Amino acid sequence: MPLKKSKGNMYNWVTNQHAHLGGSCLHDCSYCYVKSNIYKRNPDFVKRYSGFIRLIEKEFDTNYGKGKTIFIEHMNDLFAENVPDEFIVRILEHCKKWPENIYVYQTKNPARYFKFLNLIPKNSILGTTIETNRDMSNVSKAPSAKERYEAMKILQFRKFVTSEPILRFDIEIMPIQHKKNFGVYHWDTFDNTTFLMDEADTFKKAEKIVQKKYGDRLSSNGADQVDIVDKKGNVVKIFHIC
Ligand code: SF4
Repeated sequence: MPLKKSKGNMYNWVTNQHAHLGGSCLHDCSYCYVKSNIYKRNPDFVKRYSGFIRLIEKEFDTNYGKGKTIFIEHMNDLFAENVPDEFIVRILEHCKKWPENIYVYQTKNPARYFKFLNLIPKNSILGTTIETNRDMSNVSKAPSAKERYEAMKILQFRKFVTSEPILRFDIEIMPIQHKKNFGVYHWDTFDNTTFLMDEADTFKKAEKIVQKKYGDRLSSNGADQVDIVDKKGNVVKIFHIC
């Protein structure tokens, strides 16, 4: 199979992506793009990424060449507990056949990296994602964010941590995204997601943004929340919306 160029929401520093694993991911994250509607419309895709975890043998014929940064297993989690050791070893060995590339692995079970550190190509980058500091058992079956953090903290390897999608963080540790003096953040209770809706130079302008955007949805007992947050991450004003 030819090596695919990286596309979609993949990191812009990754040039290519490749998957050897078929079957559905154990972690079953509610926001998983593999389960998104676009993919559901493709029957071949659904077949390939449904059912038990398996190796797709023809993928081991893929020539990785050189000079690329390749994300391995972008459609699954290679280090999930249900992926047999021998599958991981074979995939790592395939990567090692092409040593003049950088390989990127990302898992929500980074504690399992340790078992394979001697087999992972030296020119690799190991990552995880931490979407929230809160309990996310209603969103994903993956190990908790705390477990991931603890594993990544002691991992001695070239590594990275992403926060995507950003779910609801406690405000004290929420990564501030706004550049202006005040950010207007929407906390969506139903999706358990947080996003920067807009930003403003002054508090008054930030308030106007909220009034204009939400108008009569503002209420004292709405489930969703909109916060105006200053540059230091302090919540200056909270609005409830329904
Ligand atoms: S770990 Fe990744 S591939 Fe697996 S379900 Fe979650 S988002 Fe999808």
